[in-house]
Amino acid sequence: MLPLLPSRPTSQARHRHALPPALDAWLTAPGSLTARLRAHGPVTVQVLEQGRQRLLPQERRALGSAAGHVREVVLKVDGRPAVWARSSAPLRAVKGPWRAIKGLGTRPLAELLFDGHRVQRGPLHASRLPRGGVLRRHLGRQWTLTLEDRPAAEPVWARWSVFRHRGQPLQVMECFAPWVRSLAANGPPRPRAQACPTLARMLLSRRIEHCQVCGTPVEHKVPEDDNRPRAVCPACGHIHYVNPLNVVGTLPVWGDKVLLCKRNIEPRKGFWTLPAGFMELGETTAEGAARETDEEAGAHFEMQGLYCVLNVVTAGQVHLFYRARLTDDVFSPGPETMEARLFSQEDIPWDDLAFRTVRMALECYFADRIEGQFPVHCADIR
Ligand code: ZN
Repeated sequence: MLPLLPSRPTSQARHRHALPPALDAWLTAPGSLTARLRAHGPVTVQVLEQGRQRLLPQERRALGSAAGHVREVVLKVDGRPAVWARSSAPLRAVKGPWRAIKGLGTRPLAELLFDGHRVQRGPLHASRLPRGGVLRRHLGRQWTLTLEDRPAAEPVWARWSVFRHRGQPLQVMECFAPWVRSLAANGPPRPRAQACPTLARMLLSRRIEHCQVCGTPVEHKVPEDDNRPRAVCPACGHIHYVNPLNVVGTLPVWGDKVLLCKRNIEPRKGFWTLPAGFMELGETTAEGAARETDEEAGAHFEMQGLYCVLNVVTAGQVHLFYRARLTDDVFSPGPETMEARLFSQEDIPWDDLAFRTVRMALECYFADRIEGQFPVHCADIR
């Protein structure tokens, strides 16, 4: 059987220039797709099928379940079919945190996904649907039923990602009709710093009040030949540049298990993390990642390649994770760690992970492990 979707990450597909240029923006756009489509006209949802189904092979791998609850819809913009979407979740997830999906009716799923902070989204993947594949044929059959008097060629390109709510997964796959490439994906404008409380808090926490050279209270103004306000010292003229910080760490693996550390310091004391910390002056990213792994876990390991580059925009940080191969399973954690322990995929404490970037790195790893290939992943968190 043809694979439903090769589980290649968007970053790799982009690297190979595989995405169609005009659809590229839609395939990679973060946030709510419905909100982006609404910028181009009224969006309606036509429900095609909903209920218990045997999951497709790719879903079985992504969700770790053979059967699930599936909802298939077409999103129409101004009455014209634009996106065929399929959301799927294991039955236990629909009995638990995702139960609201059953009562959605013709309301868009985006209401559940983007209306709270409790839902976390994994990386976006994109791919062309193989001609003659199970999904393409299934989609094609349904697509013709939705056309009414508004013709639209059937979707060929798809994107998908896994959302988690209280640890339970829900995969959303969105397949774009070719005509959507004529629409701008920019959708609603990006929130300004003042409109985003998290970003505003971060900017405030990193604001400089006194000159770091002479101690005089600074003025916040745009220096000559610059384009944004800086802390400028009126006494000695020193200009302070505040830039994002690098957090470096590893994803250490022993057989089929991953090493996690229980944090003994704030923030997120008592939660599990991959060994990571702020990069120091005088070291490379890989050296910093190795040092943190040594300090936090007291682990013995060999460094492998760079694996995840995650922009945490609202924290003013860039998180870089390297893969590492443990050479034994003996750990002696330092004072910043309560406990260092190996976890198999089934035992990962998804609800007690310290940071979203740790979750993303782990999700990438378990997905890539199936293929046995570990390309570099890049993603943005706002
Ligand atoms: Zn000064």
